[in-house]
Amino acid sequence: MTVPEVPSLPSVDELLATARQNDPELAAIVELLMRRQDEAGPAREPDPYADPYASAPTTRETAARDEELALLRRRNDTLAAGTGACHLCWGDDLLCPLCAGRGSPGWQTPDPWAHQRYIAPIRPAEEGSES
Ligand SMILES: [Zn+2]
Repeated sequence: MTVPEVPSLPSVDELLATARQNDPELAAIVELLMRRQDEAGPAREPDPYADPYASAPTTRETAARDEELALLRRRNDTLAAGTGACHLCWGDDLLCPLCAGRGSPGWQTPDPWAHQRYIAPIRPAEEGSES
């Protein structure tokens, strides 16, 4: 069995020479790109001895983040229950599997305890005041 001879690919210099003859504008762009590549130096190989976990959070940081996320989720869910809103999207997501975008505050009867805890203490804003 004979392997068909594959023509070798032209070198970058041969391509550039052809481009200079056929399309001087393209040749100028290629030369500029090659100069920039030379200035950037050779591509760096990744350090095989680098610690892959050097920038990864520690177990303690991850645990603290998970704890904070759980706290914020509980607070969100309680506040949503206190307003009668959808705890997933607050009525902002038409594709929400729970409310289909109808879950803004007042969507359901508010949970009495959560309402008393978070909503009842709020004094109504005075007319004409910004804050
Ligand atoms: Zn929703």
